[in-house]
Amino acid sequence: METTLASQLRIYDALDRPMRSLRISVTDRCNLRCQYCMPEDDYTWLRREHILSFEEIATLAGLFADLGVERIRLTGGEPLLRQNLSGLVRLLAGDCRIRDLALTTNGLLLAGQARALREAGLQRVTVSLDTLKPERFEGLARSGLHAAVLDGIAAAREAGFGEIKINSVIIRGVNDDEIPSLIEFGRRFKAEVRLIEYMDVGGATRWSMDKVVSRAEMLRIAGDRFGPVRALTEENSTRARDRLRAPAERFVLQDGTTFGIIASTTQPFCRSCDRSRLTADGIWFLCLYGPQGTDLKALLRSGAPQRMIFQAIRETWEAREDRGAEERKRVSARGVLVPLERLRQDPHQEMHTRGG
Ligand code: SAM
Ligand code: SF4
Ligand code: SF4
Repeated sequence: METTLASQLRIYDALDRPMRSLRISVTDRCNLRCQYCMPEDDYTWLRREHILSFEEIATLAGLFADLGVERIRLTGGEPLLRQNLSGLVRLLAGDCRIRDLALTTNGLLLAGQARALREAGLQRVTVSLDTLKPERFEGLARSGLHAAVLDGIAAAREAGFGEIKINSVIIRGVNDDEIPSLIEFGRRFKAEVRLIEYMDVGGATRWSMDKVVSRAEMLRIAGDRFGPVRALTEENSTRARDRLRAPAERFVLQDGTTFGIIASTTQPFCRSCDRSRLTADGIWFLCLYGPQGTDLKALLRSGAPQRMIFQAIRETWEAREDRGAEERKRVSARGVLVPLERLRQDPHQEMHTRGG
């Protein structure tokens, strides 16, 4: 495997946040229809001819690495729907500046791909799993394939992925009664569960504040069931979180079981946000809530020299002031972020297009 040895700059945005992490959505398509992400019956899709090739993605990823990105997460839509994803993993893993290469998946196709992904150089896998009840999964994700997700998690473990995480979006009246069992599932499978507050991102057309189970409530529920819950202060200390720039706060139960909470809605962490997102068709977003992005595909396909694209990325990041979740928190009558009509006109507003 060829290894890139080029050096890295470190750039900072207008709020002094470094650019370190990039989420690359490899497709806007998905084989589930989670209520909190894709609740509608039909969608406007990205145009096929606009989807970046693996080579185009690797070229852009290399430019981001030049500017300090050292963590890449592949996402979607459902990233495992992209043909031969391990081919892309191999290309990205060849760049030694990418110290952390991870994937977020709904797990449906993971059993068949885990080994190839691991062999290609993928380091970490996060699987989204919001319920342990197959019948509830049918309502929540509109699929009868709950068992395939569990098989996917097991296959990832067998393929040698040491660090497997489980993402669970918690919604009041839907799955909040499963907080303890999800934490227990994590303990059993040695996979850390991260409980995620329901967010009013684009695409979440059924969102309302009363459905959000806050970090505080999650902690109370965990405490009622398991006894004292302690914050992993070292991990959560400002220094450690600055170093890790991780959105999850971590907690530990008395028996040593750990879990995380991602409190994007009630306690946003924009102040330390070092991540941005590239859509499958090459639009670069500086924030999950940002109204528009920068069309890097247009630049790339125009034949612009790479130093021009490098400069465009640099100048855009250096002007970045985005703090979407913090600004949303200040809105008093908080409702759906993007009206359906606008989502239909511009799929780039969708979470499943931007990549969560
Ligand atoms: N399809 C893959 C999956 O589900 O893991 C990757 C893409 S999905 C958009 C990435 C993450 O976004 C998932 O963990 C999902 O739970 C989360 N997500 C989607 N909509 C959300 C919402 N409204 N609030 C909080 N998290 C959300
Ligand atoms: Fe669910 Fe992920 Fe698909 Fe959204 S992109 S519907 S979260 S599986
Ligand atoms: Fe970062 Fe925007 Fe999310 Fe805040 S809302 S953490 S700035 S992506």
